[in-house]
Amino acid sequence: MISYPRPRVPIQPVLSLRSLGREKGKGVPSVLDAGQALFVTSGRMAIAMALQQMKLGEGDKVLMPAYHCRAMVEAVLWTGATPTFYRIREDTSVDLDDIGTKIDASTKVFLIVSYFGFPQDMASVRAFCDRHGLMLLEDCAHAFFGQVGNKPNGSYGDYAIASCTKFFPVYDGGCLVSARHRLDTSALTSGGAGFELKSVLNTMEKGFSYDRMKAIRWIAALPMGIKNVIWRVVKRHASSGAVPLGPGSADGGAGFEPEWIGRRSSFMTRLIVRGASRTTIATKRRSNYRTLEQALFSLPGCRTLFASLPDEVVPYVLPVLVDAPEIVFPALKRAGVPVVRFAEFLWDGVDDQVCPVTADLSRRLMQFPCHQELESAELQWMIAKIKEVLLTCVRDGNELDTVSP
Ligand SMILES: *Cc1c(COP(=O)(O)O)cnc(C)c1O
Repeated sequence: MISYPRPRVPIQPVLSLRSLGREKGKGVPSVLDAGQALFVTSGRMAIAMALQQMKLGEGDKVLMPAYHCRAMVEAVLWTGATPTFYRIREDTSVDLDDIGTKIDASTKVFLIVSYFGFPQDMASVRAFCDRHGLMLLEDCAHAFFGQVGNKPNGSYGDYAIASCTKFFPVYDGGCLVSARHRLDTSALTSGGAGFELKSVLNTMEKGFSYDRMKAIRWIAALPMGIKNVIWRVVKRHASSGAVPLGPGSADGGAGFEPEWIGRRSSFMTRLIVRGASRTTIATKRRSNYRTLEQALFSLPGCRTLFASLPDEVVPYVLPVLVDAPEIVFPALKRAGVPVVRFAEFLWDGVDDQVCPVTADLSRRLMQFPCHQELESAELQWMIAKIKEVLLTCVRDGNELDTVSP
């Protein structure tokens, strides 16, 4: 296992003194406007809970995209249901023709992802589900904000889920939303005092570690000291098999921990999600996306996945297709660039046969952050590094070409 340095620039939003702002005007539509919402500890828990609400179990099948992250599959398997992987097209839209051939009597749910914040054609998908008697689960993990067909993201599904950590400077958090069914808000239980404390301290610590909130560092020095003492005690107990204080998903883990199903997200998360200015988040993300896109436009060996940024889209990241990913990806990581390959690790058996487009994207598609907490110096540093790596890789590639017979 190769280990890379920590990214020099935060991959996801980190808390700064500017994170909370008063909303001016009406704000930007989000999944929270789609219907009733429950705040849970992660997007993957929200998927499991949505399927639970749909009474899914053994013998049932869930249509899910071949292009996925593993946590989604684990959430489906937890219910006892079986995933059926369907194809996507080159622009990441769902391939309804392929899906049509995969439906049988036990197919109950259609799980759909709006990748990188760009919505699917939801009206057609909803009509398709109604025709085939399927329940629709909208995975808006990449699309917390935005709308499609004049309705906020998440409005077409029987249920929708979102991930808070991808759009807000929070430690934990996901949402389960429904525009069509009643959700029982009283059913959620607390994650416990240790979890609440961990959420506050980790949110702040992450900000400090990226040099945010310098003005209040001294205030936090005391609680951080207390935290270290608590952690020492907790770790001693944890080795005896006690429940961890926070979900692994919040600590960047890729796994699925069923003990966090039915738990409410931390108070700190709800405070930040409610208090953040949607307009600022949307404006900054769109402008960072454009800045990155323009900088990468003329570079050799890559092109952006989407030709344009529609007005109603609030991007999660900038997705870029790279010609020589085997060289470029590790080189970027070594340079400390915050690069991620969505679906880098596909579920066993999901290969070129299942979906050729997925196989290609999983290898070649790299995502760069455009979140609202990027400082302009960080954005510029990132652009300079990406340029350097791509130009070096192209030069080395050309040299190899001239050397080879
Ligand atoms: C990240 C992600 C999830 C899970 O969200 P977490 O909050 O990390 O659990 C679900 N679906 C997709 C498409 C994702 O990218």
